[in-house]
Order: sequence, then structure tokens, then C-alpha cells
Amino acid sequence: MRNVVIIGSGCAGNTAALYTARANLKPLVVSGHEAGGQLALTTLVENFPGFPEGIHGPDLVENIKKQAESFGAEYVHGSVLEADFSVRPFKLNVEGEWIEASTVIVASGASARWLGLESEHKLIGRGVSSCATCDGFFYRGKKIMVVGGGDSAMEEANFLTRFGSEVTLVHRRDEFRASKIMQDRARRNPKVKFLPATVVEEVFDVSKHLVTGVKLRNVKTGEVWQQDVDGFFVAIGHIPNTKVFKGQIETDPDGYIVSKGGARTNIPGVFHAGDVQDRVYRQAITAAGAGCMAAIEVERFLEAEGH
Ligand SMILES: Cc1cc2nc3c(=O)[nH]c(=O)nc-3n(C[C@H](O)[C@H](O)[C@H](O)COP(=O)(O)OP(=O)(O)OC[C@H]3O[C@@H](n4cnc5c(N)ncnc54)[C@H](O)[C@@H]3O)c2cc1C
Repeated sequence: MRNVVIIGSGCAGNTAALYTARANLKPLVVSGHEAGGQLALTTLVENFPGFPEGIHGPDLVENIKKQAESFGAEYVHGSVLEADFSVRPFKLNVEGEWIEASTVIVASGASARWLGLESEHKLIGRGVSSCATCDGFFYRGKKIMVVGGGDSAMEEANFLTRFGSEVTLVHRRDEFRASKIMQDRARRNPKVKFLPATVVEEVFDVSKHLVTGVKLRNVKTGEVWQQDVDGFFVAIGHIPNTKVFKGQIETDPDGYIVSKGGARTNIPGVFHAGDVQDRVYRQAITAAGAGCMAAIEVERFLEAEGH
């Protein structure tokens, strides 16, 4: 039986692994289908403290993993397919094999929703982004497009006008779902141009490995045209990876884990870390900090049990 199993190998999971390994708890990390988490999708990260020149996302998470391994953390490939948190030890089905754990840290993240275009997928981290806070700075004086119709799309569009020469907000419907106050704010912003009833059909230019423009289609008239764009931000929401814990760990209606204070979930001995619980900040540094918090809670929880 494991002292602690950590679900997810992003910034949160790897940091939790580092701390629990240094506490001599010999953690086991289940990497998930996206080893390294969301940072593995991106290129340069300029806002993680300690790297004045910036650091590539995949290198950053790999470094934390190596640091954790050097203190004894173990990693297994695959995903948790099922979990039984009804009694301790907790049981996790990892690709068909059941693992028992005294405590669990859920660091399974929240995946950004994408449009699902092949060109979009190939250009993630090369002009395609899901995070204005992370990547807005790269588009100073450039043309930016934001896709989405909700509050977060409005917020991202407004925020991105700090950098871009213009921000075009594209939405497939005529009506925007965002609250009136958020829409008004965006409409008052002279740099934001609204493009309703429009869908993106392709992002250019995969052959150049960077975003140069998009192909758009008006869903009412059928008109198709191309537009030059340097930064393409998709703001259509996130999906917290909590499906396998449904009915056991308490989540909000969108599937984010509901925190019971610190890193605690509703189940004593099961802790949360990172974007799986955080719908507000969603940053590498906050996820890493949350991993540290969860690890310290695990140490104290086990210590209180005389571990
Ligand atoms: C393109 C892009 C660029 C970004 N750039 C920046 C940036 O410049 N700066 C910044 O601070 N932040 C950036 N972010 C945000 C940052 O990546 C996230 O906030 C951070 O990765 C969250 O870490 P996490 O560990 O909570 O979750 P994630 O990184 O999402 O990791 C979740 C992990 O859980 C695993 N998992 C999921 N389900 C299961 C399961 N059932 N079983 C086992 N494992 C599972 C996944 O495979 C993954 O390893 C960016 C995000 C994206 C998408």
C-alpha cells in the first residue's frame, strides 16, 4: 500500500511529488494521458518566478519531475480509470491494475476546451493559446483574435487590448452569452471588434509553425474570408478532469472540486491541488503552490495518524 498516490503530473502533481518525496513518503505519481500536463503543450513560459530568460513549458515540468524523482518519487504511465474512496485504504484503478493508497492528492487539472480543428491543435503554443494572462504579452502591437461568447471571452478580449493593436471577438452565435456588464465593458472598448455569427474554419499557417491568420465563415450568409491574425485565443471554457471521481469527491456544477479549506476535499485523506479546483487563477505558479499545500496537508494527516 502507498502512503500517497498523486493523480496527475502537471505543475501541481509534480510539486506535490517533490514535497512528499522529501518528507520521505515515497509518493507514486500517476502521470495521466498528458504527461507534464498543460505546460507540456506550450513553448516559452515567462512568468514562472526564477527564470529571468523564461523557460520552455515542457522543460519546466520535466525539471520539477526530475527534482521529485531525485528524492524518491515514482511515476507510472497511464490514467486513473476508477476510484473507490468509500473506505480506507483508498483504491485506484490505474489502467486495469488496482493500487491502494493511504492518502490521495488529486492534481488532474482542467483541460482547456478547443475548437477541435487540426490546424488549431498543431499551433497550440505557437500563436494559439487558451490563456491571455499567460500569453498576451507576446502580442504587443499585434493583431489578436479571441473566440467565445461568455464572460471569460469578454474578459480575455478586454485584457488583451493592453497588448494588441486590435482584438477581434468571434462568436458562432448572434447573441453573446456573457453578462451584460461584461459585454458593455467590451463594447465600450474601442480596440474590441465584435464578429458574431461567425465560425473559424482553419488557423494558418501550420507549415510556418506560427499563426499568421484564420479562415472565417459567416454562418448566416455562408460568406468565407481570411483575416490576418498573430495571436489566436480560444476562450470557450475548461473541463475539470474529475469525471472518474463523480459522486465521491464533491464538485461544483461545472465539475471543479469544492475545497473544504486548505487542500482538503469532502473526503478526509483525499486532497486537491491545482487547476482541478481553481477556476480563477489557473497559473503554473498557483498550481505548483497548491501542490506544495496538498503535500504538507498529507504529511500532517499521516503524522496525526502516527505514520
Ligand atoms: C497553451 C497553454 C499555455 C500556458 N501558458 C502558461 C504560462 O505561460 N504561464 C502559466 O503560469 N501558466 C500557463 N498555462 C496554464 C498552466 O499550464 C496551468 O495552470 C497548469 O498547467 C495547471 O497545472 P495542474 O498541475 O493543476 O494541471 P495540468 O497541467 O492540467 O495537469 C493535469 C495532469 O493530470 C493528468 N490527469 C488528468 N486526468 C487524469 C486521470 N484520470 N488519471 C491520471 N492523471 C490524470 C493529466 O494527464 C496531467 O498530467 C498555460 C496553459 C496552456 C494550455
